[in-house]
Amino acid sequence: MKCHRCGGVMVSDFFQDLEDDTGHLCFYGMRCIPCGEVLDPVILANRQKRPHHQARNRKLMTSGR
Ligand SMILES: [Zn+2]
Repeated sequence: MKCHRCGGVMVSDFFQDLEDDTGHLCFYGMRCIPCGEVLDPVILANRQKRPHHQARNRKLMTSGR
């Protein structure tokens, strides 16, 4: 999996003590090594529900290369 921001390598990571709107305190997510972008399961699920969002991210990735 590649980062949607910088195109860097993302690794799965376990996050703790990060409370967001959903009240999750710990979760498995993806973290970008170069830029530190974090994707949690909620973000990933939301993204899959919005095809428009995906198209925009794909465009950003292409322009970043
Ligand atoms: Zn990144």
